[in-house]
Amino acid sequence: MAIVTQHTAEGSTQSVLQLHNPADHSFLYELPVATPADVEEAVAKAREAQKNWGALTVENRVSYLLRLRDVIMESRDEIVQTVIGETGKPLQDAFVFEVLAVCDFITFYTKQARKLLKTKRRKVPGLLKFTKKVEVVYKPLGVVGVISPWNGPFVLTANPVIQALLAGNTVVAKGSEITPRSAGILQDLCERAGFPEGVCQVLVGDGMTGAALTSADVDKICFTGSVATGKKVATNCIEKLIPYTLELGGKDAMIVCADADLDDAAHGAVWGSCVNTGHYCCGTERIYVEAAIYDAFVSKCVALAKSLNQGQKHGFKEDLGAVFWDRQMTIIESHVADAIERGAVANTGGERLADRDGLYFPATVMTNVDESCDLIQKETFGPILPIIKVENIDEAIAKANDSCYGLHGNVWTKDIQKGRNIAARMETGSVSVNDISMIFGVPSAPFGGVKESGFGHSGGDEGLRSFCHAQPILFGRYGGHDVGYPYDEKSYKRLNKVLDFTYKNPVGKFFFG
Ligand code: NAD
Repeated sequence: MAIVTQHTAEGSTQSVLQLHNPADHSFLYELPVATPADVEEAVAKAREAQKNWGALTVENRVSYLLRLRDVIMESRDEIVQTVIGETGKPLQDAFVFEVLAVCDFITFYTKQARKLLKTKRRKVPGLLKFTKKVEVVYKPLGVVGVISPWNGPFVLTANPVIQALLAGNTVVAKGSEITPRSAGILQDLCERAGFPEGVCQVLVGDGMTGAALTSADVDKICFTGSVATGKKVATNCIEKLIPYTLELGGKDAMIVCADADLDDAAHGAVWGSCVNTGHYCCGTERIYVEAAIYDAFVSKCVALAKSLNQGQKHGFKEDLGAVFWDRQMTIIESHVADAIERGAVANTGGERLADRDGLYFPATVMTNVDESCDLIQKETFGPILPIIKVENIDEAIAKANDSCYGLHGNVWTKDIQKGRNIAARMETGSVSVNDISMIFGVPSAPFGGVKESGFGHSGGDEGLRSFCHAQPILFGRYGGHDVGYPYDEKSYKRLNKVLDFTYKNPVGKFFFG
């Protein structure tokens, strides 16, 4: 991808994204970058559209979203091919993570919306229950800005958009400059599903466009991307006092206990590190293995890594795709080269595949890694498995937690209670036991990182409700006279008696205490 400045016929300048396919460097297309003025215009349009969209019943909005799911089902090949063109990811990664997941998300959230967005009566506690009642109304926030990255360009745009729309908001989204059409296709699909104009807009743009969106007249920002950009987004949102969620980077650790099923764990390690070419926020980036099984585990990982088919000529059998863009290739190469320079051994892989036209880095199993190097300390986001020997589980947990990131982690053991105990000690937003980090794909789970990996939740009931303002409405049964004027000695003494009865008298305590 390159950003170039072009001169228009009117004499002004326009930034343009030039996109190439990372699998073979072939030219794809050019797309104009949305300017801050375009962002303002889109947000104003979304605000206007929100008046009618927010006034629809939840059931009406659910019908729109279910029509969108039908359109996605009909257009699955188009979505998959658009994503593959911009990312070079394997067919199955594109299908499962972009299409299937989005259909699951729509199904889950449409069901939950009917329950979670309904006005609800809440119990009033204590003595106030005799004089007041309360209802909670889930109101839309207004216009939500969604900013997404390049590694899951369709799904990471669609997931927050689905939830925001169901809650009655309209959305202005901006996909990554690396994968603009893979995000932008969501707007086309919404149009095909008959959504009213302005309800879901997806802009093409770069960081400048994203920054303009965070400064525009929006009521919430959902950001998915790097820690560095996340901090800038948070600063803008705090300045405007609007809510935000940050889904940021990770350095997920895998812990393999001596009693683990070694075949499952080795498959989990290779798949967890290489899926989506390792460009997965919850991808496995550090593997801690108990000494007793270390050698056997490494051998199995090496054999599996060597067996992967890489590159598009393998068609349906392609396991590992291209690196999605050249900057990520530079990061992967520099982390691996630095580790090797400091004594690490690449048991397989270790260098980019120079015989290909495209950007290909093989599955790389590394041992003897100096733990202070970038490969262990920073997010690599590539198909690399650094495997580190530990004496016991306490050492594994301490090393896993020794990170500024806290997104996800995974534990492998045949003893489920032990898995639970280890999970409880991990300083991460979520944990898997005997599975790779697929928690993002489970929409009922409240997905979100701790430490520098993020803030807030982008899934589960918590995620959906975060697109609403919960507005309580209180109804007085006696016109507010229960504790109101006139204030005098008599009313003061009466209130004291009421308090004594409620929290001292055994009968009162039975009912209210
Ligand atoms: P990035 O931070 O470079 O960019 C993310 C998005 O922010 C892009 O759309 C970009 O154009 C936009 N942007 C850039 N500067 C901006 C600014 N100043 N204000 C507003 N928006 C701006 O991240 P990336 O390289 O696209 O994505 C990779 C990162 O995303 C990795 O760290 C990965 O772990 C993380 N990620 C996290 C999750 C999660 O759910 N936790 C999911 C996927 C990816």
